[in-house]
Parts: sequence; structure tokens; C-alpha cells
Amino acid sequence: MDKLKVSLLGSTGMVGQKMVKMLSSHPFIELTKVSASPAKIGKKYEEAVKWIEGEIPENVKDMKLVSTEPEDHKDVDVVLSALPNELAEDIELKLVRAGKIVVSNASPYRMDPEVPLINPEINWQHLELLKTQQNKRGWKGLLVKNPNCTAAIMSLPLKPLMELITQRKIIMTTLQAVSGAGYNGLSFMSIYNNIIPYIKGEEEKIPKEIGKMLGQVQDGQIINAKINARVTSIRVPIKVGHMGVINILLDDNDKIDIEEIKRELKNFKSLPQEKNLPTAPKKPIIVNEDESRPQPEIDLKIENGMAVSVGRISVENNVLRMIVLGDNLVRGAAGITILTVEVMKELGYI
Ligand code: NAP
Repeated sequence: MDKLKVSLLGSTGMVGQKMVKMLSSHPFIELTKVSASPAKIGKKYEEAVKWIEGEIPENVKDMKLVSTEPEDHKDVDVVLSALPNELAEDIELKLVRAGKIVVSNASPYRMDPEVPLINPEINWQHLELLKTQQNKRGWKGLLVKNPNCTAAIMSLPLKPLMELITQRKIIMTTLQAVSGAGYNGLSFMSIYNNIIPYIKGEEEKIPKEIGKMLGQVQDGQIINAKINARVTSIRVPIKVGHMGVINILLDDNDKIDIEEIKRELKNFKSLPQEKNLPTAPKKPIIVNEDESRPQPEIDLKIENGMAVSVGRISVENNVLRMIVLGDNLVRGAAGITILTVEVMKELGYI
């Protein structure tokens, strides 16, 4: 089988490096072009990157960095993007208008009703929007987005739970790792031995994106699910791993059986598992019975970072509480981008 050729924008950043690493052993996706900021064009990847993922894979070491311009991405099937949010819109649209399929981690267009926002196990069906996107937008290519890292992690256990709960009032506190802010995101002096009780933009994005992912396609558009959520996002001094304390306010009519909740979470599977896609975790949700879990030091590497771990599930005073943990760079970014491409190939969109 011919491999799918992909290029990667933002290949030297936190998410980009993780994608370079994950793609180095991929059975049918081949990374053939890497790009970074304009000053690095023409440099060898190994000279241009401040690599933090162990050994740089042999296949990219000598690759020369290219620009983000469409002519540098002519001979690839898909362009993956891990560009900074503020630069992504113009660069990605130029590529889509030039006929490229772009699958992106950056925020512009995430909430556009005609652009699928994909967390593959939750809403692979939303890729259906691609059937009409080109005509409606006049684009030659296609644009697919992946969610914000925290929304990607927290939405996974919410998907099976939303089927069991009538009222959708959620109070969520997130404890987010420093890597979530990007390679140069936070100075050591600001976060070492410290906690910052605010992350710009995060508290608004998380509920909106979860509502879109849990929504339905109708007449070529997404109708968002109604989620009434109050989110507080806090930066904590760990390198990788976003944790969320999720409290779901229950209705008197909700007959909650904790064992049923745990069963639904443990048994949750979707198309990526059914099709046995290479990046899909066998079990997307891991349920911990140990009250001291999940912990970043212990639980992040499960299923190569593609599963989320859930613990401390209980109901008290009509509130269902659980603690959720996931790898923001893998489940929250690089891993779902790659899994999205696998699903798109499986379903014939590529
Ligand atoms: P990052 O570490 O800051 O990396 C940014 C990348 O963009 C670097 O490769 C950088 O190259 C490149 N870049 C900067 N300016 C550029 C320009 N003018 N033209 C072309 N490339 C340029 O950011 P990140 O954390 O990897 O995040 C990337 C995207 O993923 C963002 O949109 C972010 O919101 C999203 N995301 C991040 C996470 C996370 O946990 N970090 C999770 C989910 C989604 P240089 O090395 O040359 O500067």
C-alpha cells in the first residue's frame, strides 16, 4: 500500500515534536516535509529544533525546513498544522484555498458550524460536513480541526455520561501543565514553585468546544449540544498532563448507579477501536478504583498517552464527581490529529 504523505507546520514546537515522534513509526502515514518559522527555512531539522522527545527520529534529522506556502506542500496528501493560534488562520486558509487537506490543532475556525471539530472516538461522524464544506465555502481543499487540549481530554468521559444524565450543568476545575502553553509559553520564574489561577481564553473555549463535539450534524451544519458549564482553569507546575475535577449537577430524575457509570466509561468504544486504527487506544477511558489515582506520574503513559484516566467517581448531595487526567500533547493534540487522519483515510475522505 502506498503511504499517505503528510507535511507538518509548526514541527519544532511542543505539539509538532510529539507528532514527529509518533509519525516516525507509523505504518501508513509518512512525514515528508517539515516547516517552522521563516528564519529557519532551509536549515536541517536537527539543527533548527530544541528537541525534547529523546532521540530525533532518523527520517527527519536531515530534512530541510520548508515554508508554509502552498508551493512547498504540493506533493503531500495532507498538511498537519501545529501552528500558533494567532498565525494559523491566514496560513491554513491559504493552503485550503490552494486545494490542500489541512488537519489542524490551532483554534481559528474550531467553532465554525461547517468545519468539523474532531475528537475521533466522540464525533467521527461530524466528518460528514466535509461532503458540503467545499461547495459552501468555495474552498478547493478541506479544513478539519482538533479541539483544545483540555476540551479533548474532558469530553471523552463526558460523551458516555451525557447519555445517562438529563440535566447538563457542569462545574469543572482544570489543573493544566506548563507544556500546554507551548515551548516558550511560560517562564521558569513565573511557574516554578507556583500556581497561576488563570489561563487566558481557556475557560470560554472548553465548554463551547465540548458542546460542539457533543452536537449533531443537521443540514450540513453542526447543532451544538446544550452544555451549561462553569470552568475554572489553573496552571500548575508540572510538565505534561491536564487534570480536571468535574462535578455534574444531577436532576432528581437522574437515577444514578455508580457501577453503571463505571461500566459505561470502561466499555466505551467507537469507530477507531472497531477499525483497529494504529493510533487508537484499545480502551479510550481507564477507570481507577484507587482513591489516590489518577496521577500524572503514574497514569499518563497508559495506551501511549491516548487514553484518559478517570478516578474518584462518586455521588453526594446530587452531584456526580470525577477526576479526569490526560496527556495534553498526545490525547490533547498530536495523537488526535494523527488518529483523525487515520479515520479520514478509513472513511475515504482522503
Ligand atoms: P509551540 O511550542 O509554541 O510551537 C509553535 C510552532 O510554530 C513552532 O514549530 C514554531 O517554529 C512555529 N512557528 C512560530 N512562528 C511561525 C511562523 N511565523 N511561521 C511558521 N511557523 C511558525 O506551540 P504548541 O504548544 O506546539 O502549539 C501548537 C498549536 O497546537 C497551537 O495552536 C496550540 O493552541 C495547539 N495546541 C497545543 C497543545 C499543547 O498542549 N501544547 C494542545 C492542543 C493544541 P519555531 O521553532 O521556528 O519558532
